[in-house]
Amino acid sequence: MYGHGANMHFGSQTNPSLWSGTIIAKGGDGGAGIGGGRNGSGEKLYFYSGKIEAKGGEAASGIGGSFKGRGRDIYIYGGDISATGGEGGAGIGGGCWTSEQDMDGDTAAYNINIYGGKIYACGGYNGAGIGGGQFVPARDITITGGEVNAHGAYGAAIGGGRWCHGQNITVTDAKLKLTTGYNQFGSNAAAMGYGDLVYSGKVYSTVLRYIGDFVRNPLPEDYKSIKIGSYNGKLIKLKVEAQAINRNDDFTFFWNLYDILIPNENGRIDVQLLTLPYVKNYGWAINAMELELIDDPCNGKHDFGWVDRQSCHVWACRNMKCQARDPVAEMSKQNGKHIPGDWSNQKQLCTVCGHVMGTDTKAPVLEGLKDGESYTVEDNINGNPGAYTFTVSDPALNGEASSGIKSVTINGEPQAGPTYRLPAPDGGNNDAGAEYTVVATDNAGNETTATVRTYRRHHVKVISPDGKKTYADLMLPHNEYLVLQIRLPAGVSATLTDEADGTKIPYDKEKGEFRAGLITKNRTLVLNYSTKHPKVELRLGTGQYFTGYNADSDEPYYLKGASMDENSYQIGMWVDTDAKPGYYLSSPERYTQEELAALDESLWKEYKIAEATPGSIALPFILITIDTAEYEKNGGWYVYAKATNPTGTTYVSTPKMIIDVENPKAIDFSTGKELVSNGKYWGDLRFTVEDSSPVTVRHYTSPGGTAELLTPDEKGVYTISAEYDGSTQHMLVIEDACGNTTSYKSFKVCWNYLINVREKDHWDAPPAQPIRISKGQNLQEALSNINIGFFAADTNGWIPVDVSWKIPDDYDPQSRREQTFTVLGTVVLEGTGARCPSGLDVVPRPGEEWKKNISVQVTVEGEPQYKVTVQDCKNGRVKVVNAAGTAEDGTPLFCKDELVMLSIAPDEAIC
Ligand SMILES: [Zn+2]
Ligand SMILES: [Zn+2]
Repeated sequence: MYGHGANMHFGSQTNPSLWSGTIIAKGGDGGAGIGGGRNGSGEKLYFYSGKIEAKGGEAASGIGGSFKGRGRDIYIYGGDISATGGEGGAGIGGGCWTSEQDMDGDTAAYNINIYGGKIYACGGYNGAGIGGGQFVPARDITITGGEVNAHGAYGAAIGGGRWCHGQNITVTDAKLKLTTGYNQFGSNAAAMGYGDLVYSGKVYSTVLRYIGDFVRNPLPEDYKSIKIGSYNGKLIKLKVEAQAINRNDDFTFFWNLYDILIPNENGRIDVQLLTLPYVKNYGWAINAMELELIDDPCNGKHDFGWVDRQSCHVWACRNMKCQARDPVAEMSKQNGKHIPGDWSNQKQLCTVCGHVMGTDTKAPVLEGLKDGESYTVEDNINGNPGAYTFTVSDPALNGEASSGIKSVTINGEPQAGPTYRLPAPDGGNNDAGAEYTVVATDNAGNETTATVRTYRRHHVKVISPDGKKTYADLMLPHNEYLVLQIRLPAGVSATLTDEADGTKIPYDKEKGEFRAGLITKNRTLVLNYSTKHPKVELRLGTGQYFTGYNADSDEPYYLKGASMDENSYQIGMWVDTDAKPGYYLSSPERYTQEELAALDESLWKEYKIAEATPGSIALPFILITIDTAEYEKNGGWYVYAKATNPTGTTYVSTPKMIIDVENPKAIDFSTGKELVSNGKYWGDLRFTVEDSSPVTVRHYTSPGGTAELLTPDEKGVYTISAEYDGSTQHMLVIEDACGNTTSYKSFKVCWNYLINVREKDHWDAPPAQPIRISKGQNLQEALSNINIGFFAADTNGWIPVDVSWKIPDDYDPQSRREQTFTVLGTVVLEGTGARCPSGLDVVPRPGEEWKKNISVQVTVEGEPQYKVTVQDCKNGRVKVVNAAGTAEDGTPLFCKDELVMLSIAPDEAIC
């Protein structure tokens, strides 16, 4: 049965409306719907108008060739044509063969021309939509108008059948919709060009999903001649469905990827030369390609430059109404992912396009170093000067990045970290300390500078020969020239001896001083003196010795060890003399030695320890009582002692004594309340100290064991910086000049840092529970109904918080299909302090900005879908090939009015 179909004409070319009937043509076994019968060719077929529905019989095309019959020379000028191939046949073009046909031979599908009309062409199993059937290559397909919807079933949408190439295909000024089944059936056929299995093996998955590698790049023979374009100066707008890079740098399937292209001077674009850095297999094996023509909003005068698309730079028109690009422009060769360059000027830019990839405006932090501060450093174990150490960090501000530490210099010299050393001076500069200017610079150019000093100190003690008395206890800078002023009674002979090496330091009687000289190490000096005059020593409280007349000193003496009893101060006193009895005098008056000699004897009291009565213990000192009111009136006090022998009288006195028995108090600057041990303070802790004499404030932390002397600012406020580490314990020890000490132990100073962000009732899982909304529902409103909250350092549980959700650009509210995607959100921490006991806004810890992120998977329901069930036929399996999705059991789903395409599916070639 060899039936050729040749020279057939449908409709009217000159007056299409004259003839507008419907022809329904269905091929018999091996015969085309319109064209050749079994083994017969279909050629010279002309369509001008009217409605045609052509269905090929088994192994034959809808319009064109039959089983082993060629299909070629097809001309469509108009009409409404639907052509569906039988299995193995193209929609329009070649029939089915049992071995591969020659591209240049007579049995290829060739010379197919479409000038207009509305065409639907669907290939049968292994066939192209327009082009070759099974084992049939295609060439010379030209479309210059009309509206073409073509689907290949393992063949190209337009091009070769399965196993075959397609060449010299040109589409200009037409509207196209091409699908291949790449995503659903794992077909590697091109939208335009070659069929499935030309370049890659087939990988089926159990649910008909294909997740595989790139298809190998096509050979030049396949892309040399596939072109789209416009001869009318229009721009080409492509919409493709393909795998593309998502926000997380993974490839996922995108429904709506748009690309607007400028044809070359001949009005054409090589389809398979098309690339976009973020689309996989763009230009060849993609799921679908829609082409339409749009007017050029720039009228050819494009404003070309780099634009940012999906983390890539693409050379395109920067006019947002246009966005067109020239795929063969020289600059387009550099299209690609942004390449992070060096940081500069607080920004990290892409080296190619200058896109800002990160911002860092926060300067580095010198940990443990405060500008203007001085640090005392002890010698190391070998007696050499030690060093003060610090570290440097580069925290990031909210929403910014840390560019990292670029350099740390000390006095201009670059240093290697992570711990930096500021050595104490080795000597020679007296008490000036060693000055260091530290400059830390991050890669973004932010800089922090601190100028500090370090000091080396030595311990110098002056003791009595028996070691029981300490006359002086000093911490001195290295190389200080020490002159010890010790007031001894007139006529004494005194020696000061270095306990370590026996060096003797002479006494200058005229000036009453020992010249100990340069202090270069710790020294213990032993004072030994004798006199012909009586030797008198006055001791107050614990260990405060006075050996000479001191009342003429202008330096006040802060008395330690006083106590308060009702309205008087009390202090223990000893008078030790070799010419007993000794006498003492407690007075607010400042007397010279001459005045003391002239005083009425009755003012002096004998120093006499009471005899202990049996059964009691006598205290070995006398309690001096000083009326507080009288003390306050004078603002100071003196104690004198004297003893007399036949040679003369020796007078001893204290300098003007300042008495203070109150413990210092540290007051929280923000609340006015005294600090407490085991307290918890939020934000930087600022406090003042209340006391009537000078204080030293020492600050210790543990673990880590740092100790520092705190200094107040000009308003008298001390600051302990808040930390992000809730485990650090602080201790303050405040001592006034009179030895009264207050300590506050084990308190914490923290930022109200973010612990985590969770959805209400889902405390274990970071992402929010997936939500599902119907098509018409407002997504932003649905997102705002998700209960997100946080846990923070200063909260007693979950606190609700606002979230800024970013709806993905590719979400299409109009889509008929169900869409599932991830929406990323960031919690808004500003103002959260209002919901925390401390009132302090929650902040993420450095490096934990990510904790503010929350995501939710959203499914937007499509239109109602209907299950389509098909039954296998006798010789093979019947399969639905164009389902948008499947039910859980794999049954294909369709929306109302969607066309259902079926195919028979033998794994081998049929026939
Ligand atoms: Zn433009
Ligand atoms: Zn870039």
